[in-house]
Amino acid sequence: MIDTHCHLNIEEFEMDYQQVIKDALAEGVNEMIVIGIDPISNKKAIELADTFNELYATVGIHPGVVDDYDIQSIEPLLKHEKVIAIGEIGLDLYWRQDNIEKQKEIFIKQIQLAIKHQLPIVIHTRNSFSEAYDCVKPYKGKIKGVFHCFSSHLEDAKKAVDLGFYIGIDGPVTFKNAKDIKEIATHIPLDKILIETDSPYLSPHPFRGKRNEPKRLSYIAQAIADLKGISKEEVVKITTLNAHELFHIGVKI
Ligand SMILES: [Zn+2]
Repeated sequence: MIDTHCHLNIEEFEMDYQQVIKDALAEGVNEMIVIGIDPISNKKAIELADTFNELYATVGIHPGVVDDYDIQSIEPLLKHEKVIAIGEIGLDLYWRQDNIEKQKEIFIKQIQLAIKHQLPIVIHTRNSFSEAYDCVKPYKGKIKGVFHCFSSHLEDAKKAVDLGFYIGIDGPVTFKNAKDIKEIATHIPLDKILIETDSPYLSPHPFRGKRNEPKRLSYIAQAIADLKGISKEEVVKITTLNAHELFHIGVKI
């Protein structure tokens, strides 16, 4: 399995990331993509990817920090061989709406940077799918990526797939009342789905509320398998292939 989205580069894992990685490997999570959100975590993601063969890094300016940082620190990092995408980037209208123009500006600049460097993007949206969709749409066909931790409804997921993007599915697919994401996992074809933990956030059931770790990825694969009526092995196989293809990593089977 490949955990396509985790934040092993932040404070919550500072004390025990080595053990966390070891535990993940023991549970069959043999690749992990460590996601940057600001200059400090970007640097740390690369350091981790340099230290561990199984880890890859993304770098980006998250919508939550667009007032603090511009994007000039990003481009020099893109040459690094284990930097495989720009992210996470996007729009967050849950926390703030007053700086939406700034959020859009920084998001679009990073989309253009990704196109220039032929890298995929990892998109964060919260209460902002349609606004983010409008930012990406003009670049349809030139850019690929994932709408990470998809949190809108099935119709929007179909729009994302039409743009050529993958749908990132996380712990909430295991929650009893998460109707939309269950519907998405049921109806969006497996070859358009990536699985991710978003550790340390969004622990799957029955670990809800605890610090999440990549080792719990199989709960997400199992939930998707149950919804689709297929085996967990099939979910693991296809979502791994999807991630390898999108991020140009791993061994082709
Ligand atoms: Zn994230």
